[in-house]
Amino acid sequence: MKPIYLDHSATTPVHPEVLTAMISFFANHFGNPSSIHREGRLAREAVEGARARVAALIGAAPAEIVFTSGGTEADNLALLGTAFVEKQGRNQIITSTIEHHAVENACRHLAECGFEVTFLPVDGEGRVNPDDVRKAVTEKTFLISIMHANNEIGTIQPLREIGAIARERGVLFHTDAVQSVGKIPVAVADLGVDLLSIAGHKISGPKGTGALYVRRGTELAPITFGGHQEGNLRNGTENVPGIVGLGKACEIARRDLASQMTHLRTLRELLEERIRAEIPDIRVHGHPLERLPQLLSVSFAGVSGEALVRELDLRGIAVSAGSACTAGSTKISHVLAALGMPEALAVGTVRFSLGRDNTEEEIGRAVSILKALVEKRRILVELEGSVGGRGCR
Ligand SMILES: *Cc1c(COP(=O)(O)O)cnc(C)c1O
Repeated sequence: MKPIYLDHSATTPVHPEVLTAMISFFANHFGNPSSIHREGRLAREAVEGARARVAALIGAAPAEIVFTSGGTEADNLALLGTAFVEKQGRNQIITSTIEHHAVENACRHLAECGFEVTFLPVDGEGRVNPDDVRKAVTEKTFLISIMHANNEIGTIQPLREIGAIARERGVLFHTDAVQSVGKIPVAVADLGVDLLSIAGHKISGPKGTGALYVRRGTELAPITFGGHQEGNLRNGTENVPGIVGLGKACEIARRDLASQMTHLRTLRELLEERIRAEIPDIRVHGHPLERLPQLLSVSFAGVSGEALVRELDLRGIAVSAGSACTAGSTKISHVLAALGMPEALAVGTVRFSLGRDNTEEEIGRAVSILKALVEKRRILVELEGSVGGRGCR
């Protein structure tokens, strides 16, 4: 049986058109974009063409795009880059408790460096309340960083409202849009953001590529030092094949956005309906409406999510768990913890994330296998004792 890949929020396969676009930039057009000669100029043209494609996907100007090594570096550049700019004693960052580790841990590092970081809570559906943002802003705040859509539960944040607050209070606004770009419409002016992070490998592009949108006029300090590439914001010789691939992935994402949204939403609804109809004692996480089309996070009561992931893997189905089993006890993710759900339920969480190549037939097959596994594990748990702290079954 052909394996079924339902883990596209972790990474996606490279689109064949992306691969084709990249190949000649390894061997034929190998030039350094900073060189004056023909090889250099060809590489420069390719990089600038890619920049225009990335910009077009999010409604930015090409000059507002800085290429990075991925979503993590884009997030770090946004957070550290705004922190290390002279800003008249302002030292507070406002973020949420459900950010990706790239934002969370950059914030923790800044806190160790003496910055003040406010982690705002979310409601049971994973949404930040814009009123909480409004109350948290002080005259010391220089940056608000709230992700566009969450990578574990798919909840979309009210960025427009938060952006309006940021503008009103003269505070910069960054969003990690790694999961939303290419999956739902993302327009920087519409969202009111000054900084926005993108990762290539989440949108059928190559790993190790990404970009940060930096609104014109936004002051940012570099976090690398060297040859002044990328407007001195990302020093080092450009990853030309990767940048070309990212550009192509953005072009495809823009071209196919409407059809992919329908495709992903149709499959997600089918998956959710079938799980609800066939497997009792489940709970779907995230906001019922404000959520990504490609993602479904479900808890199966009385079962370990990690054990389910392992058993599904044995049957050729790739998904993610919302908890990890370490040294015999189970640690739930910071996102599930922030939703305030009982640990016994959070432990049974599985994330399904769909992609362009998935089919209805695959969804049907996956649910049949899932159903049998959940039933089997529930019987086992019944026989052996409770799930959770003690076991990772
Ligand atoms: C994957 C991901 C990242 C990290 O991007 P990399 O390119 O893997 O460094 C950051 N934020 C979110 C929301 C992600 O899903």
